[in-house]
Amino acid sequence: MVKKTPTNHGQITHSSPISPRKSKNPGGALPHLGPLVTYAVGALPGYLQGAHRCETLREIDEAIQQWAEVVGLTFQRTSELHARLQVSFQPLGAPPSPGGQLAQASAQGIVLDSSERWLLRSQKKPQRFRKAFYLYPVVLHEMGHCLGMKHSSNRDDVMWPYYREDLWTLSDADKAAARGMRHGDCTCNANICVIS
Ligand SMILES: [Zn+2]
Repeated sequence: MVKKTPTNHGQITHSSPISPRKSKNPGGALPHLGPLVTYAVGALPGYLQGAHRCETLREIDEAIQQWAEVVGLTFQRTSELHARLQVSFQPLGAPPSPGGQLAQASAQGIVLDSSERWLLRSQKKPQRFRKAFYLYPVVLHEMGHCLGMKHSSNRDDVMWPYYREDLWTLSDADKAAARGMRHGDCTCNANICVIS
């Protein structure tokens, strides 16, 4: 999950990584996943459709692909019917409102709060949406949770639990932790860890 910042900015929140019970293709680099992980992107908010649809999908693809080489998996976008993970936009929070919880990850995939205004990399923050958030760093963070990553206490890591709009690339520490999972040295929270 993504929080805003310690001073009440976007928080990235999460629940649990991908369930091992759902793996139909064991034997991948990570014990709970097969070597090919499919995902689908659900309906986009209206302002991300049309001319922005391709760019939005490309950003989601690229954010997810950053983890591929590190964990030794292949990620492939496919239809919703066959996808292992779903990336969707749905209301989060009670009640859903801009500026609260931004996103969460679960065994089913990533949910991005549809009550937020999401920005693409090519876009500047519009005056009328002062609380708008960039999509890319949030997807990057949440995908880490889907793989079993826990939060980092270092604000320069993608897995830092608070939103930073300038964190676009996995840090060396993010990669080291992910590689640790790959070799069975799980770093994730014991309550949500699916790797033993
Ligand atoms: Zn998180």
